Amino acid sequence: MNNISLDDLIRKVEKYNPEAVPMVMKAYQVADSLHYGQFRQSGEPYITHPLNVAYILADLHADQDTLCAGLLHDTLEDTKVTKEELTNLFNPEVAKLVDGVTKISKMPYYTKAELNNANTRKIITSVMDDVRIIIIKLADRLHNMRTLEYKSEFKQKENSLETLTIFAPFAYYIGAYRIKSELEDISLKYLNPDKYKEIEEIKIKTEHDSEKCLKEMLQTIQSLLEFENIPNEIKIRTKNIYGIYKRLEEGHKISDIHDLLSLKIMVDRIKNCYIALGMIHSQYHPINDKFKDYIYNPKTNMYRSIHTTVFGPEERLVQTQIRTFDMDRVASFGLTAYWEIKKGAAREEMQKELSEKLQFYKSLKDIDESLTDDEFVLKVQEEVFSDKIYVYTPKGEIKELPKGSTVIDFAYAIHSDIGNNMEKVIVNNEEVPFDYVLKTKDRVKIVTNMNSLGPNEEWLDIVKTTRAKKKIKEYKKENN
Ligand code: MN
Repeated sequence: MNNISLDDLIRKVEKYNPEAVPMVMKAYQVADSLHYGQFRQSGEPYITHPLNVAYILADLHADQDTLCAGLLHDTLEDTKVTKEELTNLFNPEVAKLVDGVTKISKMPYYTKAELNNANTRKIITSVMDDVRIIIIKLADRLHNMRTLEYKSEFKQKENSLETLTIFAPFAYYIGAYRIKSELEDISLKYLNPDKYKEIEEIKIKTEHDSEKCLKEMLQTIQSLLEFENIPNEIKIRTKNIYGIYKRLEEGHKISDIHDLLSLKIMVDRIKNCYIALGMIHSQYHPINDKFKDYIYNPKTNMYRSIHTTVFGPEERLVQTQIRTFDMDRVASFGLTAYWEIKKGAAREEMQKELSEKLQFYKSLKDIDESLTDDEFVLKVQEEVFSDKIYVYTPKGEIKELPKGSTVIDFAYAIHSDIGNNMEKVIVNNEEVPFDYVLKTKDRVKIVTNMNSLGPNEEWLDIVKTTRAKKKIKEYKKENN
């Protein structure tokens, strides 16, 4: 995989976007001559790095400007070329993307003390401007992580930590699961090699032990679907090593991780997802509380699928995931799936999805523009990059909130009127005080009353989110 040639890249691009080939060739030539005489720590000519980055992007079916920016992504930082020259050689879009990526690479992400917060803020805003910048940066980081063996041990650990705290979460927020999983696994391998090896062995053993059972189920389900003429593809999917590691860290036993192995069942359309679900439940006994419908109730990062855990052969518990082919592309590639699904309209569609559907974008937008740079960056770390909890509305919709959020945060996340008119709160059928801290899976119902007392000063100390604080202050201003 590391010996990608220009030919490999061109052949890949030709398959899905032949018109892009001449410009991609030109970008390669420009990058190659600008980086001439520079080498990577591995001893290879520097151009192998941008070439691999472009190849990862081509795998995602990236558009022409993104591919070119991938090839040129280190030229502004490491060579004499200027943004104006890139604009003249290519176009303003390519120059803007390269410039955006360059700014991110200068970000000293987690060393708070010396953080250049003004710059960090610029970067976060630029991501909101054009999501392709972060996608190129993720491809860049992925290739750097794949070739981390050539760096010093200190650099390996430092980069891995940075990847886990910043890049893997970003990949998750845009739904790019494959990139997220690979980034996490490589990071763990460098940060905790013993643990990594131990889990890897357990995983191989579990895969081996369950192979017969899963294959038998796969064939049964496949023939049932084929009997009904439903186009399908079924795959065995394993959890990534870091995913298992996190569950073990939380105190779970390996035998309790019921989705360590699962069957991924893909069909052509939504209607057939439910037909497949019926077939599976009639064939294998389901466990009631492990059933989830993320098709009509998607996760906050656009993930859609039906999950159901059933008793397979030999009474083994098996999780099945049922979804359409398009949903599967989104499940693996997130926002970047739009390059394939929406083709020419992808650019607008991605930005639209980002701003309308993705929770992390909304949280970013809520953060007050009048904050100082230091405060802004601190807020982003607290609210956007922090751990999350997931709770349900009375209608069963999922809401994502930062860990430590109270029922008041929840109320304001739904609507400011609900927060302002809160009278009592029911969590899992029991009334709770307003400072109740929510946990994942809580079902929350807010009872409102137009004559409620409304928010008071103390609420400001209880709430966690910027949105809630802002709305409470607004209410105070209007009602004084
Ligand atoms: Mn790079």
